[in-house]
Amino acid sequence: MKSVLLITTGGTIASRAGGSGLAPSIPLSELLRYLDGLTARYRITTRELLNLDSSNIQADEWILIARAVYDALNDYDGVVITHGTDTMAYTAAMLSFMLQGLRKPVVLTGSQMPIEDPLTDARNNIFTAFAAVECGIPGVSIAFDRKIIAGCRAVKVRTMGFDAFQSVNADYLGEVFADGMHPSVPVPDPAECCRPVILKDSICREVFLLKLIPGTDPSVLLMLRNMNYRGIVIEAFGAGGMQFVRTNMLDQLKDLTEAGVSVVVCSQCLYDTSDLTIYEVGTRLLDCGVISAWDMTTEAVVTKLMWALGQSEDPEEIRRIFRTNYCGEISHTDSV
Ligand code: ASP
Repeated sequence: MKSVLLITTGGTIASRAGGSGLAPSIPLSELLRYLDGLTARYRITTRELLNLDSSNIQADEWILIARAVYDALNDYDGVVITHGTDTMAYTAAMLSFMLQGLRKPVVLTGSQMPIEDPLTDARNNIFTAFAAVECGIPGVSIAFDRKIIAGCRAVKVRTMGFDAFQSVNADYLGEVFADGMHPSVPVPDPAECCRPVILKDSICREVFLLKLIPGTDPSVLLMLRNMNYRGIVIEAFGAGGMQFVRTNMLDQLKDLTEAGVSVVVCSQCLYDTSDLTIYEVGTRLLDCGVISAWDMTTEAVVTKLMWALGQSEDPEEIRRIFRTNYCGEISHTDSV
């Protein structure tokens, strides 16, 4: 029987309707009542860490969760974390970077409907998460709608549908079929799982995400510089374009990078890779000193930049970190 730590942090799964709408309020002891059958299959220890809507989960909570997981790793076969779905992809990506060398399963899950609702998807998702631990699917992942997604590749794509998460630019790590869980990645042997994990939980909070629109006022970049942001992620157009005719972003961009601000450019498109070498509107960005995010999700880029800036103040080191694949977050890595 696998021993699993179940950490709860809130989210819809633990929510009830109150005077101001749904809010997390179901205590862990009551959550467990809906999960009969689980305790017969697994040796479960529980820990109520937070009870927040995930819109309220931020850097402090990421560090708290990472430390709780890190402290538990030696004592369990894996960890399941219930979490609101809205920012679950950010938390999963950040944990993927903070827990370096992790081979045991750490599986986040939640639900689109509260666990008390008769139509809930909560039970299904939690059982899927435990099955991922049972199979030993390595590293941080999200279990949702019978699929297991790498934590650094997950994106929430639906507000209402039960298939709320997709694995972007990467295959699922596993999927449940009528005959059970099918892992699609090699499952590490127990000795590998016991290798030490390094907790790297210092992060920089001065990171901003800017989504371009046609005609974005370039002085936004000056404003961000004056606000002392150390890192800026720009969601650019298509393969990575930014305007320079009439509204010229490039001068402000160059000033930013020359001032030591790390600017990472990704695509507004969900799928495939950005490639700043294809169009003039991209190559000019590279000339301004930006870093290419290639095929990373926006969630992975934002958290990787926060994490990278927590590891180093040297822009060249940040560039090197972005070229390095830590947990499957990027397919394109060049000469590291
Ligand atoms: N607002 C909720 C949250 O992210 C949504 C959910 O859990 O599905 O906490």
